[in-house]
Amino acid sequence: MSILACLFVSDLHLDPARPQITRLFEHFLAGEARTAEAVYILGDLFEAWIGDDDDSELPARIAHALRGLADTDVPIFFIAGNRDFLLGRDYASRSGMCLLPDASVHAIAGVPTLLMHGDALCTDDHAYLAFRDQVRAPEWQRQFLAQTMDARRAFAEEARAGSRAHTHDTPEALMDVNAEAVARAMRTAGVRRLIHGHTHRPAVHRFMLDAQPAERIVLGDWYAQGSRLSISVGGLRLDSLDPALVTDHA
Ligand code: MN
Repeated sequence: MSILACLFVSDLHLDPARPQITRLFEHFLAGEARTAEAVYILGDLFEAWIGDDDDSELPARIAHALRGLADTDVPIFFIAGNRDFLLGRDYASRSGMCLLPDASVHAIAGVPTLLMHGDALCTDDHAYLAFRDQVRAPEWQRQFLAQTMDARRAFAEEARAGSRAHTHDTPEALMDVNAEAVARAMRTAGVRRLIHGHTHRPAVHRFMLDAQPAERIVLGDWYAQGSRLSISVGGLRLDSLDPALVTDHA
């Protein structure tokens, strides 16, 4: 009997400007993902999300590719990131994805595992956390979604420019996770393993938490290549995926 693996990706930042990354993700969904026990997308699947009613090409194309996987009975779980936090039930059901709250615990290969996007762990970045609180408030979201598509697009463009400037001006260390926030999240969840993305610093960190061995696995981004984590009872692998694997005729 073959050993099924759970696969994890995050921070694809899918955007019409990077068609080769869109094709690499489609290749992943039609290939390796079909052999998985489950696929987890831990946020920032899209570079920007202005509402489930966005009728542009990319969301439709990705919904189709996700649905193709879901129809083969591979469950797809989605946790929203700081770019696509407005992705909602409509798009999830069109795509065959199951929405999970940020900070969910699933048994992965028998190990209780805390799953997060990761931005909430960057507690040293106070300006970002204030922005996060603002845009996660239901009233702010209701007002935003009530605007015209053009107004929402303009806002998303501004937010991306603001985010680039903030990233440029903020010291590297402030944009990484805070060790105490990690420990607190893991203690609260009662786990010794955490998987998250967001920081674009793929790594497996092993450390002691309350005198027990613990593990924090950080997924990589999909800017220049893909990145996916595979976990089975046989162990874990964090690999990058080469866009050159995908032929260019699509
Ligand atoms: Mn992020």
